Amino acid sequence: DNAIDLRGLRKVYRPAGGGEAKTALHGLDLTIPKGSIFGLLGPNGAGKSTTINILAGLVNKTAGQVSIWGFDQDVNPRQSRASIGVVPQELNIDPFLSPGAALEVQAGLYAVPKSERRTMEILAAVGLADKAEAYARTLSGGMRRRLLIAKALVHRPPVLILDEPTAGVDIELRQMLWSYVRELNAAGTTIILTTHYLEEAEEMCDRIGIIAEGRLVASDEKSTLLAQM
Ligand code: ADP
Ligand code: ADP
Repeated sequence: DNAIDLRGLRKVYRPAGGGEAKTALHGLDLTIPKGSIFGLLGPNGAGKSTTINILAGLVNKTAGQVSIWGFDQDVNPRQSRASIGVVPQELNIDPFLSPGAALEVQAGLYAVPKSERRTMEILAAVGLADKAEAYARTLSGGMRRRLLIAKALVHRPPVLILDEPTAGVDIELRQMLWSYVRELNAAGTTIILTTHYLEEAEEMCDRIGIIAEGRLVASDEKSTLLAQM
């Protein structure tokens, strides 16, 4: 069974004021098996963020099929959205919400019943238990990154996507994030991460897909793929 199935995914960006349309995805086919740590690799402008934003429901596709955890995005939009958590690349957090409050807001957005919320448990898992009531503006970059991971996990999605999780992150925090992501995967979460660091994909992933100019140019087990490079 697959966690993600993309068929013929196309995205054309059309500038609001007229001007030249830009085709970011040219009919992408991509399959990600359940249980994997999948690395989506490619140079800047290849279409990684576009792919992720479509999965997250943040950007509308132009054409093609998107299936998440067996739910077609067009047929079952609610279930397909509930099956995924996304950790964005930008460290955008509300400076006036404490981490505890931010998780409660997120739980509300995903209609997680009060009795099933695990705010403190999730904060503890990412090492932010002692910051539950802190002003978010006092959090370091690493803490913000971990808060964004915590937010993405509030509704217990079976698939977690991390967009460039360690871009601009120091070596110590990178190791911590990697080990936490491995723990999540061992506990059953399918992980997808985008990166432009080959070393990060080598270290973390069991499968790798390479995307260039809006097309998938390779997708295989890491060992098979790296042997060809
Ligand atoms: P819409 O979904 O309405 O097209 P977007 O958020 O996709 O809105 O984009 C809004 C505008 O911002 C686009 O029309 C585009 O011109 C511009 N834009 C945003 N990101 C980029 C980018 N990476 N490259 C070029 N233009 C961009
Ligand atoms: P990556 O994440 O691999 O760097 P993106 O998905 O951000 O690639 O971008 C793929 C292509 O689509 C690029 O040429 C980029 O400039 C363009 N693009 C991305 N977002 C927009 C947007 N909102 N409007 C117009 N063009 C965009």
